[in-house]
Amino acid sequence: MTADFPPTFRCLGCGKAHPGVGFPHQCLACGGVYTLPGEAITLPDSWDPAGAGGLQRFRTALPLAVSIPLATLGEGNTPLVTVAHGRQPVHCKLESLNPTGSYKDRGTVVLASALAHAGVRQVVEDSSGNAGASLAGYAARLGIAARIFVPESASGPKRRQITAYGAEVVAVPGPRSQAAEAVLAAVRQGAVYASHVYQPHALGGYATIAYEIVEQLGQGPGSVIAPVGHGSLLRGLQLGFEVLLRNGRIERLPRLFGVQAAACAPVWAVYHGGAAALSLVAEGETLAEGIRVRNPLRGDEVLRAIERSQGALTIVEDERTEAAQQQLAAVGIDLEPTSAVVWPALDDLAAALEPPVVAVITGAGWKARP
Ligand SMILES: [Zn+2]
Repeated sequence: MTADFPPTFRCLGCGKAHPGVGFPHQCLACGGVYTLPGEAITLPDSWDPAGAGGLQRFRTALPLAVSIPLATLGEGNTPLVTVAHGRQPVHCKLESLNPTGSYKDRGTVVLASALAHAGVRQVVEDSSGNAGASLAGYAARLGIAARIFVPESASGPKRRQITAYGAEVVAVPGPRSQAAEAVLAAVRQGAVYASHVYQPHALGGYATIAYEIVEQLGQGPGSVIAPVGHGSLLRGLQLGFEVLLRNGRIERLPRLFGVQAAACAPVWAVYHGGAAALSLVAEGETLAEGIRVRNPLRGDEVLRAIERSQGALTIVEDERTEAAQQQLAAVGIDLEPTSAVVWPALDDLAAALEPPVVAVITGAGWKARP
């Protein structure tokens, strides 16, 4: 039997390789989280600029055997638009313009293609909205039945989007962690967990954001800033830039900056106060619902990415997030509050920023509009 994808994933805890078949959401040996090591990514000499749709362009760099068809919806190839932030030009990578309205599509296309190839017909997932909507979209394309567990409080548009794609929404009362518990109960009963966080396939998809940024700028960025929830996006960006560096496409690693919502900032707490600070973190209410994550699975990977790249982590309160969302909409960039956190963070990080500065705009404004 051939592997569904190259057995390139490794456990963060014990270092053992993923079996290469099936979709265990945790290490079979120790229960740790699987990740994608950079050595597993192979870059071609050049990308085909227009010959293929969506991430098909980056096919050989994705953690998916090249014989497996990619179920693209045209994800990726998002615009890089320059907006003035005070006197500093900031290049906004509009991931909000992906097929389902968020950067998650770059990861989902890889995972969903692997699922379909393995013959999986039904999956479960938990998500505050964007990952659930993305999975629902790609599952619809592939004829996979998806059951998405969401917190009862998740915003209406995302839930309606999930339903529109034909997926089943299971509303779970209480905070987001309760939805995570509910999905694990389904997994224990045998459901395939198409998790955007546990399954490492998405990391290779997020790395393509780095490839496009370098292509579009015509050089490596000096700084890249992104919101941090579980941390998969920042880890994917680091992977992409490190692979580019190793292949001589850029001269140095950009500084990576992560932003959390002040009301729920576990990675920032550890960054500033050490591991003991984590116990004090609350899952507080915030407009930035997409990064309201009390137990970030890739928090350690984020901290390493920040350290290795000489970046930093910061937090933003909702009032500033809301103002930034309006400010950016007023210059034509429609983004959700979860994405808007990066804008005020640029003020706080001004002394550390090296140009060119790129801000990853993760999700569309309509996602959070009642
Ligand atoms: Zn392990």
